[in-house]
Amino acid sequence: MAGIYIHVPYCIQKCGYCDFYSIIRLTSKEDFVATLIKEIEIRKSALVKEGIQTIYFGGGTPSLLSIDELGRIYKALKEHFDISNVQEVTIEVNPDDVTHDFLKSLKNIGFNRLSMGVQSFNNKILAFMNRRHSADQAKNAVQIAKQAGFNNISIDLIYGIPNMSMECWRDSIDQTIDMDVQHISAYHLTFEPDTPFFTKLKRNEIQEIKDDDSLQQYNLLVKRLTEAGFIDYEISNFSKPSLESQHNSNYWKGNNYLGLGPSAHSFINQVRSWNVSDLNEYISLVNNAKNFSEQEELSFKDIYNETIMLGLRTRKGVDLKQLKHDGNPEILSHFSKELKINMAAGNVYEQEGFIRISDDKKFLTDKIISNFFIV
Ligand code: SF4
Repeated sequence: MAGIYIHVPYCIQKCGYCDFYSIIRLTSKEDFVATLIKEIEIRKSALVKEGIQTIYFGGGTPSLLSIDELGRIYKALKEHFDISNVQEVTIEVNPDDVTHDFLKSLKNIGFNRLSMGVQSFNNKILAFMNRRHSADQAKNAVQIAKQAGFNNISIDLIYGIPNMSMECWRDSIDQTIDMDVQHISAYHLTFEPDTPFFTKLKRNEIQEIKDDDSLQQYNLLVKRLTEAGFIDYEISNFSKPSLESQHNSNYWKGNNYLGLGPSAHSFINQVRSWNVSDLNEYISLVNNAKNFSEQEELSFKDIYNETIMLGLRTRKGVDLKQLKHDGNPEILSHFSKELKINMAAGNVYEQEGFIRISDDKKFLTDKIISNFFIV
């Protein structure tokens, strides 16, 4: 089963840490929606042999589209893809876009899962990150979502933020637990090039937090959430039993997905492609029947690296059978050598045909993954 991702390229303001493609002028919304619907039609054969299991509206801020615009996009998906067996339809929403009527209408369209960009329950931290909502707005939004009938809600959090104390982080985790949601994604802040935070870092206006503090914040996150009944099914993702994000799990399993909209990435039958990351260019190219994406076929080495990277981030681990099936002798011999070294170091272990990262080494996941990479 495959997934469809829709990229909505609008935000009201840019958050300090974010490098996702979006613009802050909303005047082109109508052209964007019409062009996206055109792309849906153009690419209707991309997943023709597969049923669609998940649909995900991300961005940007999809909740900046109106119900009419979202409904038209969903209708086009219905017309051109087999979504009759779709199980999970997620939309990312900003807390201050949430109203009861808006969410009720989302349900009527077919959305059954919300992903809320809360990031913190501390107003000073929210202001520092240039988020446009307050902690109270986030709490209200979750309550409104429940009243509107959503019973699959995910909250995003960020840790590793300069000058954020352990108390502040603990409080955000605990308030998230109190919200009684089904899923939490928690990412360590990274300083991506071309973001305001990156510029501040280079100018010495802010500093990265110490590795020890990062580790403590991660450990606290895992401890608190697992005590509250969440399963850390991926290094940054926690869910109540059986409520993992199906859409993201499909990525991690290496299943096919089709990305639509500017800057959206697709992965279909070992070919990766990406749409142009500029809204005006996207609109012009799609409407003039010109090529609006680039692509590359993955080599054995790429597939191996991707299998390691995605698999080791998950609790389930890397499937040895799949690795042997997809690999060639050279790759498998490299893997065996690294496996021996990393097992001896206690970094990974084997269980039921899967290679998994040891619990006490999870914070070092990225480093351990890089041990296995072929460059
Ligand atoms: S984090 Fe979300 S709301 Fe903030 S700029 Fe990025 S896409 Fe927009």
